[in-house]
Amino acid sequence: MPSSNAPKNTGERAEPKRFENVACPFCGMICDDLTVERTDKGLKVVKNSCGKSVAGFERKLPEARPQVGGKDVELSKAIKEAAKLIGKAALPLYGGLATDVEGMRAVTALADRTGGIVDHALSEAQYRNFKVLQSVGWVTSTLTETRNRADLIIIAGSDVHQLHPRFFEKIVSPPDSMFDVTAPKRTVVFIGKGLDRSGAKGSRVGEVVTLPCKPEQAGEVVAALRARLNGFRLKPLEIDGVSLADIDALAEHCRKAKYGVVVWAPPSLNFPHAELAVEQFTGLAKDLNQTTRFVGLALGGAEGAITAAAVCGWQSGYPLRVSYASGAPDYDPYRYAIGRMLKDGEGDLLVWIASISPDLGPPETDLPTIVLGTPGLKLAKPPAVFIPIGTPGVDHAGRLVRVDNVVSLPLKDLGRAELPSAADVLAAIQAAL
Ligand code: SF4
Repeated sequence: MPSSNAPKNTGERAEPKRFENVACPFCGMICDDLTVERTDKGLKVVKNSCGKSVAGFERKLPEARPQVGGKDVELSKAIKEAAKLIGKAALPLYGGLATDVEGMRAVTALADRTGGIVDHALSEAQYRNFKVLQSVGWVTSTLTETRNRADLIIIAGSDVHQLHPRFFEKIVSPPDSMFDVTAPKRTVVFIGKGLDRSGAKGSRVGEVVTLPCKPEQAGEVVAALRARLNGFRLKPLEIDGVSLADIDALAEHCRKAKYGVVVWAPPSLNFPHAELAVEQFTGLAKDLNQTTRFVGLALGGAEGAITAAAVCGWQSGYPLRVSYASGAPDYDPYRYAIGRMLKDGEGDLLVWIASISPDLGPPETDLPTIVLGTPGLKLAKPPAVFIPIGTPGVDHAGRLVRVDNVVSLPLKDLGRAELPSAADVLAAIQAAL
């Protein structure tokens, strides 16, 4: 960890340098082919950028110092104060969790030691998937399998281009594939009106079809599709923008596909009981695997959400919403959802970790709050303790788990600012307990 003095985050930059094959932490895809240059003006993405990666890497950090009660202090004092608050809390809530593998391991260790609860800021969206995975299971693909093999890609009710600006460029229409496996031109189907279709172009994209229902009706459309594929008669559909003939045409595409993929992003499915839509998407893949190869691909996973769930899973056996209050991991997706707990006045301290984007400020609460955050993090009021931390893959090295859950990617230290990692600060707090 840098010296116990307040960390510097502007001014003194290391010498200019060009970094190749940089992994990007700013969405769940973690593209690892960027080129980033460090100059005396800051970082610049010079190859394989997108709007999100430019905003993330090139963001100018404001001055930020460790604070206690809104007043600048030495880092050692902020750590001591954080340890004091955590030490006397009966039920600390460890939320946000936008950090890397090492940071999440440190959170879990601290929660275990202090009888706390862990939950990621974006777990509400993740639970749209977990409920289906836990209850009926699924057959899913990876980014690489989809890129290499898909001949039909169905985007179900999700604005994939907005969430992952390079998904179409890298996965749907890449210039080449691995191992000489070159899929034929892909048919791309959008279920939902208003989805950004601008990425569906290029030499690998064939027919582009849109079924312009409301995006929240994508589950109903897929349910009708499954019914037709399974030979059922249906009354005329009551779904605006989609006819039975449209469903039958899509069924024909599905029957002919050699490797079909249904893609959804849980953060886009922001409506009640969206897990039922996810169940339809994964059910479609299961049905079609009777006669061909068909798989699901779930996207999303910004702010280290996939990493937090993965680390929590391998440390405790459960994917977030875990309490260590009894001395052993106790899992309850309702009782230990930190968003609900804060609304219902549960817990007596919030420890919020947000090292990636400045938009992930802590929710409103009257609880005393300790924030470990990237400089510039949006804060409605000064927390009891604020400690500026670095962004993994920008200010320090680290690892993040990719959205398809099959690989954790190494992140480089690009030397933007001299800031401690979440893991180092959390370990220091634990040592000071
Ligand atoms: S698509 Fe996502 S991971 Fe890839 S460069 Fe853009 S923000 Fe980074």
